[in-house]
Amino acid sequence: MKAETISVGTELLLGEITDTNATHISQQLAAIGVDLYYRHNVGDNLQRLTGVLRTALSRSDVIVLSGGLGPTADDITRDGIAGITGRPLRRDAAAVEHLKRFFAERGRVPTESNFKQCEAPEGGKLLPNTCGTAPGLFVEHEGAWIFAIPGPPPEMREMLRLSVLPRLVERATAEGGGRLYSRVLRLADIGESNVANLLEDVIEGQTDPTIALYASPGEVKIRLAGKSPDEAAATQRLDAMEALLRERLGAHVYALDEDVMETAVGKLLRERNATLATAESCTGGLLASRVTDISGSSDYFLGGVVSYANEAKIGVLGVPAGVIEEHGAVSEPCARAMAEGVRRCMGADWGVATTGIAGPTGGTPEKPVGLVYMAVAGPGGTICQEQTWPGTRDQFKQRVTQMALNLLRKQIIADGE
Ligand code: ATP
Ligand code: MG
Repeated sequence: MKAETISVGTELLLGEITDTNATHISQQLAAIGVDLYYRHNVGDNLQRLTGVLRTALSRSDVIVLSGGLGPTADDITRDGIAGITGRPLRRDAAAVEHLKRFFAERGRVPTESNFKQCEAPEGGKLLPNTCGTAPGLFVEHEGAWIFAIPGPPPEMREMLRLSVLPRLVERATAEGGGRLYSRVLRLADIGESNVANLLEDVIEGQTDPTIALYASPGEVKIRLAGKSPDEAAATQRLDAMEALLRERLGAHVYALDEDVMETAVGKLLRERNATLATAESCTGGLLASRVTDISGSSDYFLGGVVSYANEAKIGVLGVPAGVIEEHGAVSEPCARAMAEGVRRCMGADWGVATTGIAGPTGGTPEKPVGLVYMAVAGPGGTICQEQTWPGTRDQFKQRVTQMALNLLRKQIIADGE
């Protein structure tokens, strides 16, 4: 099944907003094995939208449009589909009632232009919008499927998930091509080329599932994918390949699929009924923020201290003043004392600390920009890791938190052995 996407909106062409909808739709289509061959951006212009739709219809089975479904004159998606398919717009009585009710519940009265949203090209369907007012559209035209979903990302995602993807999975199954089954292994503490070396023979001999490596900031991902009409057989092949890769890569594999480092750490703490506290200098609270991105983290996260100034490190965490005088705030002894200090003052099983020079200014020849110390204090003692990662402040903070969490993850695992 060949697909293309069309993101409608002049603000996309002006660079005022980024086309995150296309990224999300691409990922979701790839995940179910639909081949996406083209992605378009088109402004709020009926003639140009019609041109793109004509081209897309001439070569693709599925077209997914996002945006331009609202009630105003520059919302042209509905008219574009009606025009190119030669199906006049018809008002849907149930949708009209729904819209009236929606406005009445909010003490408002819809205007005539609002009712535009209740129109679908003849023979087409309106797709329910579970988090907004504008329904989507689904039109089958000469074998091609056209979906139009709203531009606002939360509405787009929900409609895609509930009304578009299930139809595509059903069609793929009916056409006998099988659906795509995939799994992503997430790796920490190892570079892409090292992974490639360790897996050279596996990558060369790959057939089903296929194996692809991706490097992103702070991690490498391995994506396993195979198409099959038989879910059990596909899962079995994915399991076997995952087992082989885990054997080769050991503790570098920290999570699967959507799970991130903070998810992996949270699971380990929860399983052990253990608690965590953080002491941050150069990461400014990002570590605590990432830990608390996980729902239910209050079960294991006691709290964090952003001890930016030396006085805070000394006064709040109990870092000895002499340690800072002798070694500086960016030093292994200071990182260790911060991790131990926060563990003690919060009464946690684990304390994690970061102290470094994020830059771009402030480095010295002995302590350059990008230098960081990450320490983990736990039941069995304290460890510290030194790294130098020059980069933007943002990249630096992301990497440091990723590595600090990974250090914690490895210590928790080692503690139980
Ligand atoms: P509305 O009823 O809000 O007008 P709509 O379906 O007409 O919805 P647009 O007017 O095209 O959608 O876009 C509404 C908002 O949704 C945009 O201002 C933008 O914030 C967001 N948006 C639209 N398209 C995209 C996209 N491709 N990627 C990311 N955000 C988008
Ligand atoms: Mg709009």
